[in-house]
Amino acid sequence: MNRIFLDMDGVLVNWHAGVEKVLGIKFTDEQLIERQIECSLGIEPIKFWKAIDDYDCFWENLEPYPWFSELWKKCSDYCETFILSKPHYLSPSSSSGKTRWLQRMLGSEFADCVFTKHKYLCANSNSLLIDDHQKMVDEFIAYGGNALLFPQSWNSGSESIEDFLEKLRERLDSY
Ligand SMILES: [Mg+2]
Repeated sequence: MNRIFLDMDGVLVNWHAGVEKVLGIKFTDEQLIERQIECSLGIEPIKFWKAIDDYDCFWENLEPYPWFSELWKKCSDYCETFILSKPHYLSPSSSSGKTRWLQRMLGSEFADCVFTKHKYLCANSNSLLIDDHQKMVDEFIAYGGNALLFPQSWNSGSESIEDFLEKLRERLDSY
Protein backbone atom coordinates (compact mmCIF):
# COMPACT_ATOMS: atom_id res chain seq x y z
CA MET A 1 0.00 0.00 0.00
CA ASN A 2 1.65 3.24 -1.03
CA ARG A 3 -1.26 5.58 -1.68
CA ILE A 4 -4.38 6.39 0.30
CA PHE A 5 -7.37 8.27 -1.07
CA LEU A 6 -9.73 9.92 1.41
CA ASP A 7 -13.27 10.96 0.58
CA MET A 8 -14.40 14.30 2.02
CA ASP A 9 -18.18 14.50 2.62
CA GLY A 10 -19.25 11.95 5.21
CA VAL A 11 -15.65 11.00 6.06
CA LEU A 12 -13.75 14.20 6.86
CA VAL A 13 -16.44 16.84 6.45
CA ASN A 14 -19.87 17.15 8.04
CA TRP A 15 -21.76 18.07 4.88
CA HIS A 16 -25.14 17.21 6.39
CA ALA A 17 -24.71 19.71 9.24
CA GLY A 18 -23.95 22.40 6.67
CA VAL A 19 -27.11 21.62 4.72
CA GLU A 20 -29.15 21.69 7.94
CA LYS A 21 -27.82 25.18 8.56
CA VAL A 22 -28.63 26.44 5.05
CA LEU A 23 -32.15 25.04 5.04
CA GLY A 24 -32.93 25.48 8.75
CA ILE A 25 -33.88 21.82 9.14
CA LYS A 26 -32.81 18.71 11.05
CA PHE A 27 -32.40 15.52 9.04
CA THR A 28 -34.20 12.42 10.27
CA ASP A 29 -32.38 9.07 10.26
CA GLU A 30 -34.55 7.99 7.31
CA GLN A 31 -33.58 11.08 5.31
CA LEU A 32 -29.89 10.49 5.99
CA ILE A 33 -30.12 7.02 4.44
CA GLU A 34 -31.44 8.48 1.17
CA ARG A 35 -28.57 8.90 -1.29
CA GLN A 36 -30.30 11.74 -3.12
CA ILE A 37 -31.08 13.70 -0.04
CA GLU A 38 -32.86 16.49 -1.89
CA CYS A 39 -35.50 13.96 -2.94
CA SER A 40 -36.07 12.90 0.67
CA LEU A 41 -36.68 16.56 1.51
CA GLY A 42 -39.14 16.95 -1.35
CA ILE A 43 -37.05 19.71 -2.94
CA GLU A 44 -36.32 19.78 -6.67
CA PRO A 45 -32.60 18.99 -7.17
CA ILE A 46 -31.98 22.22 -9.12
CA LYS A 47 -33.52 24.33 -6.34
CA PHE A 48 -31.72 22.39 -3.60
CA TRP A 49 -28.30 22.73 -5.20
CA LYS A 50 -28.88 26.37 -6.14
CA ALA A 51 -29.58 27.12 -2.45
CA ILE A 52 -26.29 25.40 -1.57
CA ASP A 53 -24.34 27.07 -4.34
CA ASP A 54 -25.74 30.53 -3.56
CA TYR A 55 -25.06 30.23 0.19
CA ASP A 56 -22.08 32.34 1.14
CA CYS A 57 -18.94 30.16 1.26
CA PHE A 58 -20.97 26.99 1.91
CA TRP A 59 -18.24 24.52 1.03
CA GLU A 60 -15.30 26.27 2.67
CA ASN A 61 -17.11 26.80 5.95
CA LEU A 62 -18.28 23.21 6.53
CA GLU A 63 -17.30 21.69 9.87
CA PRO A 64 -14.69 18.94 10.02
CA TYR A 65 -15.71 15.82 11.92
CA PRO A 66 -14.02 15.45 15.35
CA TRP A 67 -11.80 12.63 14.02
CA PHE A 68 -10.55 14.64 11.02
CA SER A 69 -7.04 15.32 12.36
CA GLU A 70 -6.47 11.80 13.69
CA LEU A 71 -7.66 10.15 10.48
CA TRP A 72 -5.61 12.47 8.26
CA LYS A 73 -2.49 12.01 10.39
CA LYS A 74 -2.86 8.23 10.56
CA CYS A 75 -3.06 8.02 6.78
CA SER A 76 -0.52 10.68 5.83
CA ASP A 77 2.04 9.36 8.36
CA TYR A 78 1.76 5.96 6.69
CA CYS A 79 2.07 6.90 3.02
CA GLU A 80 1.16 9.47 0.37
CA THR A 81 -2.41 10.53 1.07
CA PHE A 82 -4.72 12.33 -1.32
CA ILE A 83 -8.22 13.70 -1.22
CA LEU A 84 -10.56 12.01 -3.70
CA SER A 85 -13.88 13.80 -3.80
CA LYS A 86 -16.86 14.12 -6.09
CA PRO A 87 -17.78 17.65 -7.15
CA HIS A 88 -21.49 18.23 -7.71
CA TYR A 89 -22.47 19.20 -11.24
CA LEU A 90 -25.26 21.42 -9.91
CA SER A 91 -22.88 23.22 -7.55
CA PRO A 92 -19.98 24.52 -9.64
CA SER A 93 -18.54 26.19 -6.55
CA SER A 94 -18.04 22.78 -4.91
CA SER A 95 -14.57 22.13 -6.37
CA SER A 96 -13.14 25.55 -5.55
CA GLY A 97 -14.90 25.60 -2.16
CA LYS A 98 -13.57 22.16 -1.26
CA THR A 99 -10.06 23.27 -2.26
CA ARG A 100 -10.37 26.31 0.00
CA TRP A 101 -11.65 24.10 2.85
CA LEU A 102 -8.63 21.78 2.45
CA GLN A 103 -6.24 24.72 2.40
CA ARG A 104 -7.86 26.10 5.57
CA MET A 105 -7.45 22.75 7.31
CA LEU A 106 -4.19 21.44 5.86
CA GLY A 107 -2.21 24.49 4.87
CA SER A 108 -2.45 27.21 2.27
CA GLU A 109 -0.33 25.29 -0.27
CA PHE A 110 -2.32 22.07 -0.05
CA ALA A 111 -3.23 20.79 -3.52
CA ASP A 112 -3.14 16.99 -3.15
CA CYS A 113 -6.71 16.56 -4.29
CA VAL A 114 -8.52 14.83 -7.13
CA PHE A 115 -12.06 15.92 -7.97
CA THR A 116 -14.00 13.40 -10.03
CA LYS A 117 -17.10 11.26 -9.78
CA HIS A 118 -15.09 8.39 -11.30
CA LYS A 119 -13.09 7.46 -8.21
CA TYR A 120 -12.23 4.03 -9.65
CA LEU A 121 -9.74 5.79 -11.98
CA CYS A 122 -7.40 5.93 -8.97
CA ALA A 123 -7.79 2.24 -8.16
CA ASN A 124 -4.85 -0.15 -8.26
CA SER A 125 -3.45 -2.91 -6.08
CA ASN A 126 -1.37 -0.42 -4.07
CA SER A 127 -4.10 2.14 -3.45
CA LEU A 128 -6.67 2.29 -0.66
CA LEU A 129 -9.89 4.32 -0.74
CA ILE A 130 -11.74 5.30 2.44
CA ASP A 131 -15.29 6.33 1.56
CA ASP A 132 -18.75 6.38 3.16
CA HIS A 133 -20.54 5.47 -0.10
CA GLN A 134 -20.87 1.72 -0.67
CA LYS A 135 -21.03 2.13 -4.47
CA MET A 136 -17.69 3.96 -4.54
CA VAL A 137 -16.12 1.28 -2.33
CA ASP A 138 -17.47 -1.54 -4.52
CA GLU A 139 -16.36 0.15 -7.75
CA PHE A 140 -12.88 0.85 -6.41
CA ILE A 141 -12.45 -2.83 -5.47
CA ALA A 142 -13.91 -3.98 -8.79
CA TYR A 143 -11.25 -1.93 -10.60
CA GLY A 144 -8.44 -3.60 -8.65
CA GLY A 145 -8.09 -1.26 -5.68
CA ASN A 146 -8.47 -1.70 -1.93
CA ALA A 147 -11.24 0.11 -0.09
CA LEU A 148 -12.75 0.48 3.36
CA LEU A 149 -16.31 1.64 4.00
CA PHE A 150 -16.23 4.49 6.50
CA PRO A 151 -18.98 3.78 9.07
CA GLN A 152 -21.87 6.23 9.10
CA SER A 153 -25.52 5.89 10.10
CA TRP A 154 -26.51 5.93 6.42
CA ASN A 155 -24.43 2.92 5.37
CA SER A 156 -23.93 -0.66 6.52
CA GLY A 157 -20.77 0.11 8.50
CA SER A 158 -21.66 -0.53 12.12
CA GLU A 159 -18.41 -0.17 14.04
CA SER A 160 -17.51 2.89 16.13
CA ILE A 161 -15.04 5.43 14.77
CA GLU A 162 -12.49 4.16 17.32
CA ASP A 163 -12.94 0.60 16.05
CA PHE A 164 -12.67 1.78 12.46
CA LEU A 165 -9.40 3.61 13.18
CA GLU A 166 -8.08 0.46 14.86
CA LYS A 167 -9.16 -1.62 11.84
CA LEU A 168 -7.42 0.87 9.55
CA ARG A 169 -4.23 0.66 11.61
CA GLU A 170 -4.28 -3.15 11.45
CA ARG A 171 -4.94 -3.05 7.70
CA LEU A 172 -2.04 -0.66 7.09
CA ASP A 173 0.27 -2.68 9.36
CA SER A 174 -0.52 -5.81 7.37
CA TYR A 175 0.91 -4.37 4.12
MG1 LIG B 1 -18.77 10.74 0.87
